[in-house]
Amino acid sequence: MFNEFNLENIENSKVNLEEILKNSKQQIDTLLEIKEKTYENFVKPFEEVGESISDFITPIFHIDSVKNSEITQKIYEECLPLISNYQTEISQNDNIYRSLKDIQDNCNTSLNDIQKKVLENEIRDFKLSGCHLNNEKKEKLKELNLSLSELSHKFSQNLLNATNAYEMIVEDFEDVKEIPQSDLQLAKFEEDGKTKYKFTLQMPSYIAYITYGSSREKREEIYKAYCTRAPENGKIIEQLVQLKEEMVKILGFDNYASYSLATKMANKEEEVVSFLEELASKGKDRAKDELEEVKQYAAKDGVEDIKSYDLAYYSEKLKKEKYDLDEEYYRPFFEEESVLNGFFDFLNEVFNIKFSKVLDAKAWDKKVKVYDISEDEKIIARIFIDLEAREDKRGGAWMNNWHSHYVKASGETQLPTAYIVCNFPPSSDETPSLLRHSDVVTLFHEMGHALHHLLSNVPEALVSGISGVAWDVVEFPSQFLEYFAYDKEVLKLFAKHYKTGEVLSNEAIDRIIKAKNFQSSLSMLRQVEFALFDFKLYQQMIKDENDIQTLLDDIRKEYAAIIPPKYNKFQNSFSHIFAGGYSAGYYSYKWAEVLSADAFYMFIESGKILNKELAIKYKNTILKNGGSKDMDKLFFELANRKPSVDSLLKIDGIIS
Ligand SMILES: [Zn+2]
Repeated sequence: MFNEFNLENIENSKVNLEEILKNSKQQIDTLLEIKEKTYENFVKPFEEVGESISDFITPIFHIDSVKNSEITQKIYEECLPLISNYQTEISQNDNIYRSLKDIQDNCNTSLNDIQKKVLENEIRDFKLSGCHLNNEKKEKLKELNLSLSELSHKFSQNLLNATNAYEMIVEDFEDVKEIPQSDLQLAKFEEDGKTKYKFTLQMPSYIAYITYGSSREKREEIYKAYCTRAPENGKIIEQLVQLKEEMVKILGFDNYASYSLATKMANKEEEVVSFLEELASKGKDRAKDELEEVKQYAAKDGVEDIKSYDLAYYSEKLKKEKYDLDEEYYRPFFEEESVLNGFFDFLNEVFNIKFSKVLDAKAWDKKVKVYDISEDEKIIARIFIDLEAREDKRGGAWMNNWHSHYVKASGETQLPTAYIVCNFPPSSDETPSLLRHSDVVTLFHEMGHALHHLLSNVPEALVSGISGVAWDVVEFPSQFLEYFAYDKEVLKLFAKHYKTGEVLSNEAIDRIIKAKNFQSSLSMLRQVEFALFDFKLYQQMIKDENDIQTLLDDIRKEYAAIIPPKYNKFQNSFSHIFAGGYSAGYYSYKWAEVLSADAFYMFIESGKILNKELAIKYKNTILKNGGSKDMDKLFFELANRKPSVDSLLKIDGIIS
């Protein structure tokens, strides 16, 4: 029923992949020769060709992230160009594009809604890659894409070089005395018979000093170094905007923002801008109060003029005083196995899905747990869960989809599979893995993604599960599930001391819940500032470094709670939008959060968090339909109305 995760012959991957790609091309050529093309004889087999490639390549790329070695790196590097070349070739094949269009035009009356959606998405994506243009324009697009990827790479490289080029040495223990032991241990070194401390601009190190460093001068020193990194990126941004403009004009768009929206749930540029402005204006007053609270706290310490580089330091102290959240106190209550089993009980209780451990399934490490998911006694999906940190595993947490649910041309149903990967504290022979509450939230988040993929019952792979879901709503199911990890009733299902069995007290749970909304308005405003800058930049296509600065300054004047110093050049390190896929899409984080919060708010309003009826409705509309319908339609089916921004603001404690 499921393909085994089997990498015994990984060394031969390149040869095997070449063979698979060669066959795929032949199969597609044969399909293109069909005279009377229909959905069944053309699109369906075309879809299956794509699925069989990802069936082969997904585990090979996956293994490089979770069981990294020289061999996996070599295989990855050998296979990546083969796959990218193949994909580029397919995306530029206008025979496929025209065949899809013909089927859309000629067979329209016989197609069902899901098939129509498949064609709509595919034709859109072919067009966005310029497949329908003349050769001269295609050639130009190719050049532009190449230059753009070189520039993005240079942007990242400059940033990385600047990040690595800096260090701050602290000699006086007084200046580091508040830094947590684990961070201090990493910073400590011996020189000339003295103990000194080194801080860098790399993430854990920078965060440690800016949050806990007692010396105000040192805090400013490292802050200044951090936000003046890579000044040469200012010119790269100018070129990036210029080239992106040329690219989208060839494709028929006025600006990059409208190009970005072509694949998103948000329809109009104004919709995104007014959405962000609404959040900002509703959060502004409370953000002022939150800032005032830190200001007063800092004043007690003799700091009357709080600056950007003081904010994290005094906020952390204030938070500790208000909520006293000691991670170490909570960890024994969140033992991995017990969390997982309690989580499964919860999912079974609300979604009516059962997780059963598969004991003989192959995986990439002995710590990986494999489960089959069943619904009404019928197995519908398989999930691989790899929770603990390991040396050969990449950092962070993510969900990776392997197979999609769909019905093959032969009539056989392919069942979906996915992996969840986290980096939780490892277990040893003596102690089990004990999680922080933030780890529990991460697990809920990734499971939200996984269920979106695995519970699909869509018959077409291209719009099944998370495939075909618009970028600005993919985080909806994941953030939705996160909210349950802050609920008392849910936490009580599994927060039991691993030695004594004692259940975490109401008082301790209340502290977690209250601390969640600490400075929520300030952080929302910061996100809105980034998102508005990103969106307006790509809307107005501003190509001059100084004008770009003016745009950022204007947004800050309007929305930032605290104006950063003049030397702050945050834009030069904004990799999300200059070296990643978030250009004119940074708003997506908040956009999806509105749906998550609003769906969760329905549970709050029903007076019952474990509301099975509502949860099943959520499962049957949002999760089961995957990418086969637009999310605004699915949301309407769930709520009988459009999403409301106010639920998010209420849940975050920003309005009441
Ligand atoms: Zn996510």
